[in-house]
Amino acid sequence: MLSASVTCGRTMQANLMPADVEVLQRALLERRTQLRRSTAAAPGADANRARLERDLHELGEIDAALARIDAGTYGLCSRCGKPMDRARLQLFPAARFDMCCMENEEAEHEEQRTVPGRPPGTRHGLPR
Ligand SMILES: [Zn+2]
Repeated sequence: MLSASVTCGRTMQANLMPADVEVLQRALLERRTQLRRSTAAAPGADANRARLERDLHELGEIDAALARIDAGTYGLCSRCGKPMDRARLQLFPAARFDMCCMENEEAEHEEQRTVPGRPPGTRHGLPR
């Protein structure tokens, strides 16, 4: 059973305009180029592994965001389907969830980590 610690009730005032999506898409593409370069050039030293993993993860998020732009679902929360805050997307163009679902996601991960006997990383299939 899901915990209802956070409820998503806020109505969004500042939805994305097509021009905003264009700007964000450009930012995502630039960031992707940057990350591709840095992950390709990263030496295999263990010290850089955490950073490399983080970059690769971000790269995946950016690819997913670009795919959502293509699909026309960009700016909608992947969890509740509501339009995301424009300011949030300008800060995190690759954001997948709105603030409230992000908190719920994190809370659930937290719960999963503290449940004994369940392998870490087990997720119940959320639609991407
Ligand atoms: Zn949401």
